[in-house]
Amino acid sequence: MRLVVVPAASLEGCVRLTIIGPASAEPIPGNASSCYLITSVARPDKDLLLDCGHGAAARVLLYTTPERIGSIVISHMHPDHFFDLVPLLYMVWLHGRPKIPLFLPPTGPDILAGIARGLHEKEDFWSRAFDIKVYDPASELSLLGIQVAMTQTHHYIPGWAMRFTEADSAPLVYTADTALTNDVVEFASGAGLIVAESSLPRQTEPEEARGHMTPGEAGRLAREAGAGTLVLSHYPAELAGALVAAAAAEFSGHVVRAEEGLSFEL
Ligand SMILES: [Zn+2]
Ligand SMILES: [Zn+2]
Repeated sequence: MRLVVVPAASLEGCVRLTIIGPASAEPIPGNASSCYLITSVARPDKDLLLDCGHGAAARVLLYTTPERIGSIVISHMHPDHFFDLVPLLYMVWLHGRPKIPLFLPPTGPDILAGIARGLHEKEDFWSRAFDIKVYDPASELSLLGIQVAMTQTHHYIPGWAMRFTEADSAPLVYTADTALTNDVVEFASGAGLIVAESSLPRQTEPEEARGHMTPGEAGRLAREAGAGTLVLSHYPAELAGALVAAAAAEFSGHVVRAEEGLSFEL
């Protein structure tokens, strides 16, 4: 695994992850919520956009172009994971750019249709920019040369953690939003890198009602999954300074706080 601090001109590993939005649902000044780019050596001319939370569209343009975005996949339909599909839509539609394949969870189309109705837009609002597809979380997707497997998270609405693998690369696992569960640990087992949400300063809810992790729990996840590197993301501003130490108390591997522009190659 190689840490690349600025976007590299060429991909030297099998898969590159670039952090676009490290913030949780509440904004961090100058930062976007949930958004990542994944690039595969099989298709270095295209990027996979993973989630598109609020604030992401303006930031992602610093790292890619609408033409380079070959597919978008959304983990779950909370605003901090998909609201910037709206500005992205305008970047594509107003310039007559090719539609981008948009892979939504099963609940996605109804939610997008409801937003279009609420905005008094025509039925084709979303399809002006996106070729909308619904993924079956039980089946693997193949996107831009990357295999994408999913498992359901323990969250407040249906959502999916994702594992990205390209040929012989060690898996890259994205927890999306979830409490720490045995399922998620098993799913992340053997990951080369885990991007883990770490949105809670502490756990206050009873176990069955939990929907997020603390940074310490993200560290436990990385330890129990035997991961190589843990990237702590989806955190509120007040947790930023304490994240790495809290996770490192549970995990002796490489721990990094997600920041816009950081790239990792697997
Ligand atoms: Zn969520
Ligand atoms: Zn979230």
